[in-house]
Amino acid sequence: MDDQNTKTENNLQGLGVAKGIAHGEAFVMLNRELKAPVYEIRTADRPNEIRRFQDAIIKTKNEINSLKAELVAAIGESEAAIFDAHLMVLEDVAIMQETMALFEKESFNIEYCYMAVVDKFISAFEKIDDPFIKERIGDLKDVSTRVLRSLLGIESVKIGQYSDAMILVSSDFTPSDFSLVDKSKILGIVSEKGSATCHTAILSRSLGIPCVVGVAGVVEQISSGEFLLVDGYNGKVYVNPSDETLSVYNELESVHKENQKIFDASLPSPSKTADGCDFNVEINISDASDVVEGTMNYCDGIGLFRTENFFLNTASFPDEQAQFETYKAAVVAANGKPIIIRTLDLGGDKNLTLMKELHKEENPFMGCRAIRFCLDHPEVFLTQLRAILRASVYGDVKIMLPMICSIREVERARVFIEKAKEQLTERGEPFNKDIKVGVMIEVPSAAFTVDIIADSCDFISIGTNDLVQYLLAVDRVNEMVAHLYEPYHPAVIRTLDTIVSSARAKGIPVGICGEIAADPIFTPLLLGMGVTHFSMSATSIAEIKFLLRRLTMKEAVELKNEVIGMKRSRHIVNRLRSFHYESLRPFVK
Ligand code: PEP
Ligand code: MG
Repeated sequence: MDDQNTKTENNLQGLGVAKGIAHGEAFVMLNRELKAPVYEIRTADRPNEIRRFQDAIIKTKNEINSLKAELVAAIGESEAAIFDAHLMVLEDVAIMQETMALFEKESFNIEYCYMAVVDKFISAFEKIDDPFIKERIGDLKDVSTRVLRSLLGIESVKIGQYSDAMILVSSDFTPSDFSLVDKSKILGIVSEKGSATCHTAILSRSLGIPCVVGVAGVVEQISSGEFLLVDGYNGKVYVNPSDETLSVYNELESVHKENQKIFDASLPSPSKTADGCDFNVEINISDASDVVEGTMNYCDGIGLFRTENFFLNTASFPDEQAQFETYKAAVVAANGKPIIIRTLDLGGDKNLTLMKELHKEENPFMGCRAIRFCLDHPEVFLTQLRAILRASVYGDVKIMLPMICSIREVERARVFIEKAKEQLTERGEPFNKDIKVGVMIEVPSAAFTVDIIADSCDFISIGTNDLVQYLLAVDRVNEMVAHLYEPYHPAVIRTLDTIVSSARAKGIPVGICGEIAADPIFTPLLLGMGVTHFSMSATSIAEIKFLLRRLTMKEAVELKNEVIGMKRSRHIVNRLRSFHYESLRPFVK
């Protein structure tokens, strides 16, 4: 780091998905899906190849032992037990013998033979429906990747083990990776894969960690220990930034801080537009700990509790009591304000390790995701519903169903809710009998039948992250089509308007909990359409509340009427930007 300024600056461009500026050392997480190369070994080189394998096993054993020692020192013996299982897998006699037998039989390199045997064991384990075996699959994958890295001479990932805060660089940083890292040690995230609405981006925003995704070839271009500057506003990553770049960014950071102070000043004021119309600004959370102290004093509730994140961190489905405690903690944190708990939205890019092994889907976003998974797994669904209902005693809890496609699915889900209520009644457990049930509108078939679906629910919340991907047929996590993911597309604007007006005609409240709720450019348009609940990461609340308080309903409706007639995304975004600029200009730098 000392000689950072003598090195040449290298600029990389990606997509800024979580605002903020980070500078610090890079920690490069190598891709876990390494493939073993395959090539022939001459007879004369065979003894050498066997030695290479023995060395790799010893190196991996030392590595696991030192990780174990670090973890024992940090958190104690019991948590470090995972490494004992890894050592057993590493030295498994059957795997060793089969690898050597294959090596004797074929004349291929040792890493190829080892991985072929490992893959054979994994496929055999996958056929066995036993949670213990499923865990061994994870161990085997982890350990074999370490051995392979060692054979290929690639440094191993020690995620979560380092002591200084760093900028994580990865080809694909997944939502479950957050559970492996001490979040206070992450200054920023740079990744090759991903898009604005992938769950890594969403989590980064809610944690206030600057994040740039879609940076091509990032893992090859950055080495661990290099100094980086990450600009989450504009999607830029500077490797070894020059003094000049650093000073430009210092300036920029202080302007952002000044503006943030101006926005923050609005927080204690009532949620009313300049002409006195009520609105609600709410937060999206994944855990009670996302409700930072004081947050509930200035926001109007929790508009989305993504419950699946709790499941991502566990090796098996958490039981009712564990879920109840998690939900209750969030309800208590809501401090009497409304909290919308969304039922499991597993699938898509939110895959349990456990689930990946149970279901291999070619097209997971279109597959057995969210409500579909719950309706197909009655015990999982009922357990969660009972836990939510039990937590409803502690505050103003509502249930929300994700990825609904038709009223039929809402009706089926409601049958489960009634069944969960009956089960609790039989057990004599208290719950709110009149709990409200809402539906996420995030699939076109639901968007165009809101008038029908409204007959079976109490409120709707628009999930634009998915709605945009399903409307435009653009995978929300695929960086190759990220440029086609256009929330400003006329089809999106028209669909939003249809959804909001259908719900209003039925007299049910409409919220938005997708990422556009936090996009200040969109705020006046959504208000003009009739959206009343804006739910977003806590870090965006101040700015959006500041804007909403300065708007009048009249000007918002006029803007909506103008934009709804526009035919191109470019015209729409330009008009929304100029409106935003004009309305903010008198107040900020
Ligand atoms: C959405 O799709 O907009 C949404 C809020 O749900 P998620 O991002 O969790 O899919
Ligand atoms: Mg969604």
